[in-house]
Amino acid sequence: MTHPPIDARKAAENVVRRLAGAGHVAYFAGGCVRDELLGLHPTDYDVATDATPDRIRSLFRRTSEVGVAFGVVLVREAGPTIEVATFRADGPYSDRRRPDSVTFSDARSDASRRDFTINALFLDPLSPGDGQTQGRVIDFVGGLEDLRAGVVRAVGDPGHRLGEDHLRALRGVRFAARLGFEIEHGTFAAMRAHASDLVGVSRERIGDEMRRMLTHPSRVRAVRLLVEAGLDSPVFNEVASSAPTPTLENQEASASFAQCLAALAIDRHGLEVADNALVRRWRLALVLSNEERDELAGLLNLTREIVQGWAGAGVAQRKRWASNGHFQGSLSLISHMSGLLDRIRTDVDGLSTIAGGLAPAALVSGDDLIAAGFRPGPGFGDLLDRVYDAQLEGEIRDRAEGIRRAAELASDIGVQRTGRQC
Ligand code: ATP
Ligand code: MG
Repeated sequence: MTHPPIDARKAAENVVRRLAGAGHVAYFAGGCVRDELLGLHPTDYDVATDATPDRIRSLFRRTSEVGVAFGVVLVREAGPTIEVATFRADGPYSDRRRPDSVTFSDARSDASRRDFTINALFLDPLSPGDGQTQGRVIDFVGGLEDLRAGVVRAVGDPGHRLGEDHLRALRGVRFAARLGFEIEHGTFAAMRAHASDLVGVSRERIGDEMRRMLTHPSRVRAVRLLVEAGLDSPVFNEVASSAPTPTLENQEASASFAQCLAALAIDRHGLEVADNALVRRWRLALVLSNEERDELAGLLNLTREIVQGWAGAGVAQRKRWASNGHFQGSLSLISHMSGLLDRIRTDVDGLSTIAGGLAPAALVSGDDLIAAGFRPGPGFGDLLDRVYDAQLEGEIRDRAEGIRRAAELASDIGVQRTGRQC
């Protein structure tokens, strides 16, 4: 008999039940409580408890240690893996990113080491809720009220909390944008005051936060908050810019990270300046993957070529652009230039009906040229491209015409032809 899969909430509840049965305090903690209370579906559930890591490991059969130094144990029983963390108070942050040491403690001090009040709530799934929640909410920091009011507020003294871990500023912006919340005044002032310190945070973590912010439909608000908090300059490693963001606003909700970065690059710098130097800078600043870097560069280059050259380009060039993998992305990037966009759409409709469409299979291959006696070497690829251009223009209709065209072009390009012909 097969059992239905155990969902993450159920798995976390089972963990809490086992810990509570052994006499421990154990709650759901952090983001999963926040999201449940907002009616969102948490993707993962974290449990916080007064049981020490050793104790947790003795109570569950399948565990693995991710960060025992931080009091975190992964529990893998039936269903998804649950992160179980011992209540702790963080020690001082001398490297300003990670606490030097942690001390195991109780729920109250565990709440006070968390970043924002809305992230510092606990929920006891075994106690009856108030009808709205499946369980009792435990709130030491006023998180419930902030959640109801839609406020992102640092736990404790904002200057101190944002000063000890600068990534929190980016997290705060991300939560405010994603949830449509305001950032509390003192918290925002502390973000601004520490904005330039962000340069000390690992670029990889900055990139991860930006990837999450920009791939969310709330990205425009995220960028506005970043700029207002003075974080755009340290994030992108360039001068601050409060330029409007019409291109970013026009991207689809599901647009990729690279697509959004391309839009933002155009908004911040203009299409001419958003070149390979910018791509190199942002790649380092955000630790982009090779794929993201290639997509960003491809989009910016194609968009620039199209905007500058469409009106004057011939059929073959337009077909090559229209069949480029970044073409749809490029059209999204010029969607606020409605005159040009309409013209391109109309032209492409026409192009797709002539001479085999936008990207017909080549009538003449490299092997065909070799078989016809053309010698591979410098210029050979160029020759092949020109024959294909002629095909796209509708000037050749079969292989024989293609070979004839190659013969006409070969000497210009410097490709040799032997006597041998098939
Ligand atoms: P999401 O997973 O949607 O980004 P989350 O709140 O679950 O949101 P996590 O990064 O998964 O965020 O962290 C879990 C919890 O750990 C947070 O809710 C918060 O209480 C705490 N936390 C995470 N990062 C920090 C930090 N830099 N400083 C203080 N507390 C943090
Ligand atoms: Mg989380």
